[in-house]
Amino acid sequence: MNITGINFLTGDPVKLEFSERELIGESHALGVSVESLPYIAPGLVDLQVNGFKGFDFNTLPISGVEIKQITESLWEQGVTTYFPTVITNSDQKIRQALKCIVSACRESDQVNLSIGGIHLEGPFISAEDGPRGAHSKEYVRSPDWNLFEQWQEAAEGKIKIITLSPEWPGSARFIEQCVRHDVKVAIGHTTATADQIKEAVSAGASLSTHLGNGCHHSMHRHNNYIWEQLASDGLWSSIIADGFHLPDSVLKVFIKVKPEKTLLVSDATGFTGLAPGVYSSHIGGEVELSPEGKLFIRDKPETLAGSAQSLLQGVNQLILKNILPASEAWNMASLKPMEYLQAGRRIPFSIGSGPDFVLFKMGAQGIEILHTIKSGKIVFSKK
Ligand SMILES: [Zn+2]
Repeated sequence: MNITGINFLTGDPVKLEFSERELIGESHALGVSVESLPYIAPGLVDLQVNGFKGFDFNTLPISGVEIKQITESLWEQGVTTYFPTVITNSDQKIRQALKCIVSACRESDQVNLSIGGIHLEGPFISAEDGPRGAHSKEYVRSPDWNLFEQWQEAAEGKIKIITLSPEWPGSARFIEQCVRHDVKVAIGHTTATADQIKEAVSAGASLSTHLGNGCHHSMHRHNNYIWEQLASDGLWSSIIADGFHLPDSVLKVFIKVKPEKTLLVSDATGFTGLAPGVYSSHIGGEVELSPEGKLFIRDKPETLAGSAQSLLQGVNQLILKNILPASEAWNMASLKPMEYLQAGRRIPFSIGSGPDFVLFKMGAQGIEILHTIKSGKIVFSKK
């Protein structure tokens, strides 16, 4: 099978040759009319995925087959690398979640290749209502390196990102240990002061987790943790662009402040892709998914319960609302997260050397995925 498309970043027409759904060759396409061709672009990379279409890494146990299904649902959405996200829970439940992910990676090579690492979001976050978001208050605690080491052992070294709040005493030392062991530290669900944030960044914290969410509803107009993180040159921003977590004006401003250091995450939960309705959730109590796709705690409609939109939908929101041109929106959800993971090293996109890519077309609803190629193999084709 041959597919001809246009390299989304360079505009060059390219011919791809597949045998048994495996990429075997790539050449410059000559004499083709480019108007009708699909685009070829690097695969999407999602640093924060709690679950998808009925399965959630925090609703336990979760089987290898279910994790494979999450992975396949993400391929359909153009995501070729993702970070299963394990949130605040009891020690025993966190261990169980980590072990389920490790065993799914052992069962399937394709799942293993698609999981870039595990994101541990909590439990070393703020206990305060608002900043804590939908995380369980019962299990929030101060950073504990011994405990973290045990979790990392259960995860067989796969925890690559941890979100914490540097408001806890001893945070700086904990952050230094994480960074020394190759674990990226993100600041999130926090009430940290300016000094605590500065200290965390000096210790090696490098990312803000879903900046602008997991916050108080009102705060001091000048001295607050959002300004402080925006002003920090050492921090990348991760933002949720699902249309509910941040208003368009805030998205625009956050992106303008750090155009080179902003990346999109989905924060998708197991409710993503389900029908609107009321569901019971592992975070306790009921959550509601509105027909528009907003996911919130039923008793507290002002508290969001994670997202119910894929990363692709976030990209499309930015494009359709004219917040960013398509290529920049796509970049922010593909090459930018990779660049963050590789400590700021720019990643050139070339099909032959980067075997994770997607083919898509632009329609009235934004980008529509036609094929997803993971490690040189076609793993999704639109029927
Ligand atoms: Zn969160």
